[in-house]
Amino acid sequence: MDFSPGPGDILQTAIRYVKGVGPRLAERFATREIHTVQDALYLLPRRYEDRRKVKTIRDLVPKEQASFTARVLDFGARRTGPRRQMFEIMLSDDTGQIVARWFRFHPKSFANRFARGDRVRVAGRVEVYRGVRQLAHPDIEKIPDDQAGNTRGAASQLHRDDFGSIIPVYPEIEGIYPKVLRKIMRRVVEQYAGHTVEILPDAILSLHDFPPIAEALQKVHFPPKDSDVEELNRGRSAAHRRVVFEEFFLLQLGLAMRRDCFKSAVGHAHPVRAGLFELARNLFGFELTDAQKRVLLDITSDMASPQPMNRLLQGDVGSGKTAVAVLAAIVAARAGTQIAFMAPTEILAEQHHRHIQKLMPPSPEAPRVAFLSSMVKGRARREALLDIAAGRVDLVVGTHALIGEQVQFEKLGLCIIDEQHRFGVAQRAGLQAKGKRPDVLVMTATPIPRTLSMTVYGDLDVSILDEMPPGRLPVKTVVLRGGEVRQVYRHVRREVEAGGQAYLVYPLVEESEKMDLRDATKMFGRLSRGAFAGLRLGLLHGRMAGDEKDEVMRRFSSGDLDVLVATTVIEVGVDVPRATIMLVEHAERFGLSQLHQLRGRVGRGERPSTCYLVAHSLASGDARSRLEVMERTNDGFEIAEKDLAIRGPGEFLGTRQSGLPAFIFGNLARDADLLARARKDAFRLIDEDPKLANPGHSLLVKALWSRWGRRLQFAEVG
Ligand code: ADP
Ligand code: MG
Repeated sequence: MDFSPGPGDILQTAIRYVKGVGPRLAERFATREIHTVQDALYLLPRRYEDRRKVKTIRDLVPKEQASFTARVLDFGARRTGPRRQMFEIMLSDDTGQIVARWFRFHPKSFANRFARGDRVRVAGRVEVYRGVRQLAHPDIEKIPDDQAGNTRGAASQLHRDDFGSIIPVYPEIEGIYPKVLRKIMRRVVEQYAGHTVEILPDAILSLHDFPPIAEALQKVHFPPKDSDVEELNRGRSAAHRRVVFEEFFLLQLGLAMRRDCFKSAVGHAHPVRAGLFELARNLFGFELTDAQKRVLLDITSDMASPQPMNRLLQGDVGSGKTAVAVLAAIVAARAGTQIAFMAPTEILAEQHHRHIQKLMPPSPEAPRVAFLSSMVKGRARREALLDIAAGRVDLVVGTHALIGEQVQFEKLGLCIIDEQHRFGVAQRAGLQAKGKRPDVLVMTATPIPRTLSMTVYGDLDVSILDEMPPGRLPVKTVVLRGGEVRQVYRHVRREVEAGGQAYLVYPLVEESEKMDLRDATKMFGRLSRGAFAGLRLGLLHGRMAGDEKDEVMRRFSSGDLDVLVATTVIEVGVDVPRATIMLVEHAERFGLSQLHQLRGRVGRGERPSTCYLVAHSLASGDARSRLEVMERTNDGFEIAEKDLAIRGPGEFLGTRQSGLPAFIFGNLARDADLLARARKDAFRLIDEDPKLANPGHSLLVKALWSRWGRRLQFAEVG
């Protein structure tokens, strides 16, 4: 297959050769990564201005966008400060007068352009300054004497089109006046949009009744006069939907191909012996939930097949993912392959290790378990590495140390990656590379909205644990103001006396000079001497050494500490059933999903639990209503959807997540429907033509490669 973009593509013409651009403006364009006319075609209007209705000056409404025609009464520059001046034009029509002002202006650009009595078109936002209406930096242009409407010469036509129509407002590019940018964009669209290659198969175009791509691009940039401006501004016009769909479709096509490649490889077949549910009962002492059973069947049927498993297991905190993972590990071990179980932190890896050891007492039947992290050193490390390489252990639990160079498996058949969102894509691949196409199970306790899992994890099969083990009491959530925190302290004392434990979470490790935030270290000292004198307090934060952290965590889990003062290092997966209070200070600074994670640390035992969210600055009503979502629901998926809507995909996934594709046109929150459709269509197409070998699909392949090639890493997949 030839993936390389075709040579001599006219859309690859450098932007500087577009009339009116040249080397100087090309440099400005380059600051926005716009180098070619194609890049320019992808620069979508930020919004649209409706200049179709022409108003009279009397009817201009403050804060509204207006366009009208008027006469120039008077004009001139006026000094406003020692080295500042502004330019003013007094405008009038039969109904009234209004002043237009320019605070930044180029003297030459105004000096000779106007004369008293000139007829002009004006468009801009009406403002009120000291009780008087004005227009700041409006678009203004002379109506030529030979009368408006008479179109002579393309240039004047371009100009005139800014009035009486719907005009695009582009993202600002420093050093290019909006009006000039618009003019350039019009040229680009007129000359080049028509050369855009139609890549969508006819069947799909007609299925969704989409306009051809060239037409869609034209309309996105310069909508016809009869367009619905609201729809344009929401980015949901037919033209918008068409370009968004194409972008999603290409990505989904790539994901479908990658999944297909992965599936068509041959890995390990792990036969499953009957009686897995019974085994669970015996091992764990509880009956699996229906959701656990269902998910386990998904997993074991993947594992039984020689095609590699590539599955994402999503489940809210406490839904019992670990139990499922352990059973999958047992299946692999019984089939004679090794298992790598990777967790994002030392604490978690250790906890899994302990948990697993407890579940599987040494017997000839049980898998042999080892632990590996950067904390395992010297002789213990050498021995562990040798055991893993010789196949003397079946299951290795550890941190990302498992990806380390010296780690070699004899026969790695299953990778389990916990809290996948904490690892980068490269780390996932790194672990897989330790074996020959091992089965992969990634788990996440941060529920991921569907739109995101379809993009970031779009090449994975997904199983969802949507049922909690029985008998779990829902955690009561209370939002408080800073001044009310004392009542929480009293509750903590009562709880400790009754045998409970509490987490106190603060956003920072040490006092920051810039912000007035309560930090863990300071509060630890203050509370030990004050409100919690006599209780056993521990401090846990990310700057402590790994073994120190573990020690504190161990003491808390074993009940040697009553109260754990911490930063968000405890966020993930820590399981202490006796903990019944979670207090989060400055809750307004945390994302909802993060708060949900923190809340999931309690409510794991028999006693009812409470989560207090203390907000110290509720400056915006926004913050308040956000926290109220937490009071209202315990459903992680619902919270995740809200969180995504509030913070956007990048923030939602966090900075470590490198897997988010950069969409030019699409918006996951807005275009979820298009994403789902594009996915369905793309996966169906790959079902029919897995390698897109049909000559009719060659343009599609080319486009896919040039748009998402690097991201999809076809080279690696083969
Ligand atoms: P997750 O990893 O999804 O946060 P865990 O697997 O750690 O959840 O399970 C949370 C707690 O619930 C653990 O103490 C576990 O032993 C228990 N548990 C898991 N599955 C069940 C079940 N089916 N019935 C009762 N308790 C369960
Ligand atoms: Mg877990």
